[in-house]
Amino acid sequence: MKKRFDLTIIGGGAAGLACAVSAAEKGCKSIAVIDRMNRIGKKLLVTGNGRCNLSSRNISEEFYHGSFNVKSVLEEYPDLRLFFEKLGLYTSADSMGRIYPLSNTAASVLDALRFGAEKSGKVRFFTEAQCTSVSENKNGFTVKAGEYEIVCGAAVLACGGCAATVHGSDGSGFALAENLGISVAKTYPALCSLIADNTKSHDRVRSKSAATLKHNGLLEKKELGEVQFTKNGLSGICIFNLSAALPDNERNAAVSLDLLPNYTLHEVYEMLLNVQLYRKRDLPEEMLNGIFNGKIALYLLKKANIPVSVHCAKMDYTDLKRLAAITKNLEFKITGRADFSKAQVTAGGIIDAEIDKSLMSKKHKGLFFAGEIIDVWGDCGGYNLHFAFASGLKAGKSAAKLLSEKEKTYDQN
Ligand SMILES: Cc1cc2nc3c(=O)[nH]c(=O)nc-3n(C[C@H](O)[C@H](O)[C@H](O)COP(=O)(O)OP(=O)(O)OC[C@H]3O[C@@H](n4cnc5c(N)ncnc54)[C@H](O)[C@@H]3O)c2cc1C
Repeated sequence: MKKRFDLTIIGGGAAGLACAVSAAEKGCKSIAVIDRMNRIGKKLLVTGNGRCNLSSRNISEEFYHGSFNVKSVLEEYPDLRLFFEKLGLYTSADSMGRIYPLSNTAASVLDALRFGAEKSGKVRFFTEAQCTSVSENKNGFTVKAGEYEIVCGAAVLACGGCAATVHGSDGSGFALAENLGISVAKTYPALCSLIADNTKSHDRVRSKSAATLKHNGLLEKKELGEVQFTKNGLSGICIFNLSAALPDNERNAAVSLDLLPNYTLHEVYEMLLNVQLYRKRDLPEEMLNGIFNGKIALYLLKKANIPVSVHCAKMDYTDLKRLAAITKNLEFKITGRADFSKAQVTAGGIIDAEIDKSLMSKKHKGLFFAGEIIDVWGDCGGYNLHFAFASGLKAGKSAAKLLSEKEKTYDQN
């Protein structure tokens, strides 16, 4: 079925929907949003555990990774409140600066975007339409998606990455870009749990810790938060953030946990000395039960080579010093990371060198990029959705401007 639109947006996720709203507002007359799923914005519904952490009060370049320079996008859209308020969506921030819809429901965010696009009267959604090719023609682009062949003046690739395919993005956007000769940096899962040795015995235990990622012996990144032990590794928001900073080649990487980050090494040693004094007749495991989870206590004792069957009184100061040191630096060798199905975002994507300041392709005039398909990913805390929305808004605005310039030239001729 042949169709003609001014602008075609491939991908109806966070970036594609923001792009549609912005292009319509900036004067684009007809916009097609195509998505491979049976409804648009599916992934948005599961973000932030169904609450959608859509942005942050602390937006800054330092929370982003990858080749793409986010500066100009963040400078233009440092705050999305006005954009959402115009769509009728109010937000509030928690004590960490994470911004959520006031309704605390991700569906409100999707509805606001969808209604905003629909109410403009310029946007049409095509679902269950997997885009299989984008090619340049003399007036713009031809987009093939399912039964449709859409001819348009400009197109936006907003197909997301490879993470959480069950909610939409399947990595096919990268192939569309590569077929147009656009370079894509190798992709790998980010914001995911890390696979590590020796965690099985304390599976499901949670511990407030300071976690430090060390790669090739260098300190890469430190995060404070709740670490969750799993049967095959480490999880939790702070581990997700460490995974974002861990290069794809994770050989020689380790995560060191400080299980008592509010105490110095000396204070931990003194704490252990005190407990030993009060609980001489207890077994070491019992002595630690007011400080650590039982499974962790056993693991610490094993690591410190302290027999669990002798009374505490038998432990000398070198035993306690060793135990204190392990508590402050419990190291796990990292052997891998969770796969895309369990990751929140994709590291890698369309590289910075392919994209101009308006988010247009340097190789194909009229082709724009937005969201996770670009080689940039952020930490947990609303940074990824902020970038998806902000880059969508910018790409929509740039596409509308280009199309209106094209139209003027056409009229003059
Ligand atoms: C479980 C989970 C929770 C998350 N929570 C948060 C959070 O609270 N805060 C935060 O900032 N980030 C969060 N993220 C990350 C965030 O969801 C993404 O960074 C963001 O959705 C990226 O937006 P996007 O529009 O670029 O891509 P997507 O949202 O992935 O949208 C891409 C769309 O393109 C469509 N598509 C792909 N290829 C094609 C094709 N070939 N043809 C047609 N359609 C296609 C897909 O179906 C999809 O709808 C979370 C991610 C997950 C998986």
